[in-house]
Amino acid sequence: MTYEVKSLNEECGVFGIWGHPDAAKLTYFGLHSLQHRGQEGAGILSNDAGQLKRHRNMGLLSEVFKNPANLDKLTGTGAIGHVRYATAGEASVDNIQPFMFKFHDIQFGLAHNGNLTNAASLKKELEKNGAIFSSTSDSEILAHLIRRSHKPTLIGKVKEALSTVKGGFAYLLMFEDKLIVALDPNGFRPLSIGRMANGAIVVSSETCAFEVIGAEWLRDVKPGEVVIIDDQGIQYDHYTTDTQLAICSMEYIYFARPDSNIHGVNVHTARKRMGAQLAREFKHEADIVVGVPNSSLSAAMGFAEESGLPNEMGLIKNQYTQRTFIQPTQELREQGVRMKLSAVSGVVKGKRVVMIDDSIVRGTTSRRIVQLLKEAGASEVHVAIGSPALAYPCFYGIDIQTRQELIAANHTVEETRQIIGADSLTYLSIEGLVDSIGIETDAPNGGLCVAYFDGNYPTPLYDYEEEYRRSLEEKTSFYK
Ligand code: SF4
Repeated sequence: MTYEVKSLNEECGVFGIWGHPDAAKLTYFGLHSLQHRGQEGAGILSNDAGQLKRHRNMGLLSEVFKNPANLDKLTGTGAIGHVRYATAGEASVDNIQPFMFKFHDIQFGLAHNGNLTNAASLKKELEKNGAIFSSTSDSEILAHLIRRSHKPTLIGKVKEALSTVKGGFAYLLMFEDKLIVALDPNGFRPLSIGRMANGAIVVSSETCAFEVIGAEWLRDVKPGEVVIIDDQGIQYDHYTTDTQLAICSMEYIYFARPDSNIHGVNVHTARKRMGAQLAREFKHEADIVVGVPNSSLSAAMGFAEESGLPNEMGLIKNQYTQRTFIQPTQELREQGVRMKLSAVSGVVKGKRVVMIDDSIVRGTTSRRIVQLLKEAGASEVHVAIGSPALAYPCFYGIDIQTRQELIAANHTVEETRQIIGADSLTYLSIEGLVDSIGIETDAPNGGLCVAYFDGNYPTPLYDYEEEYRRSLEEKTSFYK
C-alpha cells in the first residue's frame, strides 16, 4: 500500500457484513482494500448472537490488528469496520470507530463516513438536554438522536434521526439483530451492497473490497435510502424522498481506487476519459506525457492516447515511504515529496514534458515535482491537471474547510503557473470533467458535486454558512 503526497484526504472508509461465520476476518480484508481512505485509525465491531464486541486503535489496520488475538476475539456472523482519517474531532483513540453504545435495553455499533454540516448546533442542543458525548467526533450525534427519538419502532427512530442530521454521510449501524445502512439525501459519499456465495450481505465504501473477499456487487445505495439487512434478507426503504444525487467528484478524480465502480462508472476508465478530455483542452507543444504516480497514471494514459504523444515513466514512486502525509509543517511536506518521488533523467532529459497530475491543493507538491523534472533535464514542463482548479472548501467529508489552504482560491492560473515554476498550466474544465465521468442520471452536473470547483454547494451549509462567507473574504499571501 502506498500513499499520495497530497494534503487532500478522505475522511473514512466503512465496511460491513451480515450472515457469515468469518464476519470479522472478512471485514479485516474489506477494510484492508479501503486503507487508502483513512490511515489514522481502524476498528472492527462484531455481533455474536446479539453480543457486540470491538477492537479499535490508532494506526494502520495491520498495526491495529498486529496481535491476531484481537481479531480472533471478534466472533459472530455480523461485523462493521471503519478506517479513519480525522477531519471532525481530534486524532485520539476515543474518536476511532466503530463507536459502541450500551444502554440498559439496547446496544448498537456505528460507523460513519462523511461530515455533518449541522453537527455543532445539534451537539449544543443535545448537551443542553443532558446528552454526554464520549468523543469529539460528529459521528456520535446520530446515536444520541436515535436514543432520544419517541417513535415507537427502531426503524422509525433511525429514520427520524437520519432526517435530523445534515451534510454528507454513509452510516453503518449494527444492532443486536440487524445491520442498518443509510446514505445522505445527495449521496455525497459512495456506498455499495454486495453478496457472498453463502448469501451473506456485504456493504462497502468502495466495490474494490468486494473483489478481495469474492463478493458480487448487487447495487449502490441510493441517496436518502435506509437499507435493513437481517436474517430474513434485505429490505430497501427510505427516510426521505427529497433527494438529488450529487456524489463527490473527487472520488473519481483522486480518492477512490481505480478498480472501484461508482454509480456504474469504473474509476480508472473515468480518469482515462478525463485525461483524454484534458488533451483536447491542452494547447501546447510537447514530446512526452508523464503521469504523477499513482493516482494520475490513468489520466496520463488517456492523455497520451488522445494526443498521440508517448506515455513515459518519467517519475518513479518509492513504494516504501508511508504516512509522511501526516507531517503537518510546510517544510516537512516539501521534504516528503523528495522521499516519495524521483524523476528519471534518462527519460525526461532534453524533452518537453506534459506532467499530468490529478489536482493541485496548496501547490507545494506540484512545485517540487516540476523542480525534480527540471533538475533531471526536462527542457520544458507543462503541467496539465485532470480536474478543474480547487478554489472552494468542502464541508461534506474532505479535510479542506478553508480557502486559505487552496492555491487556486488565492491566485490566478498565471500566478499559480509562476509559483509552481511550470512552462504552462492547464486545468480540466468543469464541463469536461462532468462529461468524462458520465454517470447515467438526469441530476444536475451529471449527478456530481463540483462545489470544490465552482462554490455551488448542493445543500445549505448550516453551521458552516458563516465560516464559509468569511472565508470568501479572506486572501492569503502565503505563497508569495
Ligand atoms: S465539495 Fe468537493 S470534495 Fe466536497 S463533496 Fe463536493 S466535490 Fe467532493
